[in-house]
Amino acid sequence: MDKIIVLIGAPGAGKGTQARLLQERCGIPQISTGDMFREMKSLDTPLAREVQEIMASGNLISDEITYKIVRERTSKSDTAGTFLLDGYPRTAVQAEQLEELAGEQGKEIVAIEVDVPTQELLKRLTGRRSCPECGEIYNIYSKPPKVEGFCDSHPQTELVHRADDNEASVKTRLDNYQINTQPLLEYYDSSGRLKKVNGNGEVEDIFTEMAAMV
Ligand code: AMP
Repeated sequence: MDKIIVLIGAPGAGKGTQARLLQERCGIPQISTGDMFREMKSLDTPLAREVQEIMASGNLISDEITYKIVRERTSKSDTAGTFLLDGYPRTAVQAEQLEELAGEQGKEIVAIEVDVPTQELLKRLTGRRSCPECGEIYNIYSKPPKVEGFCDSHPQTELVHRADDNEASVKTRLDNYQINTQPLLEYYDSSGRLKKVNGNGEVEDIFTEMAAMV
């Protein structure tokens, strides 16, 4: 049976990094709601402006809008089989909506928790930089680019610091994770659909563990 693999973890836990590797190396299409919302930046519509504002504050976009973009994205042909969700669901309502979607598509949901201690998350978030061209994620402390401030694969492209990786937004995002998203771990665990990886280690080791689960 095809699967919908759901990555659950606090901001900075490394979901995005692992999702990209699983896509590159295992060919599993990854859908990141955060990336999709960030892409709306280039649109000059009232909805896009509202989304940018909510994101910058570290709060969550409404379940209704989020479900709409997930539905739309998962109706494309590349997600006909198994695919991976990075950053969705994040609330109990979204988890219910995903059940509906999985039912319609005849897929089973597998959730993977990426667990990282809070102190480590703070360091990762403030040090995080990414390439706007290819999405590669760096960290000035633990994974610096070869040339400071520029992407290894796109030497002309300056790395960016996400607008919501500042101290105030990070706090809101971590609070939101604890209040809204953490309860989903129990939800998936109680139905026997939760797996867990220790996200506090080497990227390659974590990847090996996760690749065996999907
Ligand atoms: P991320 O890149 O996953 O950390 O997401 C960045 C931001 O996008 C979040 O802080 C939210 O504002 C928004 N976002 C991403 N995914 C969701 C979601 N499933 N539900 C609501 N808001 C989301």
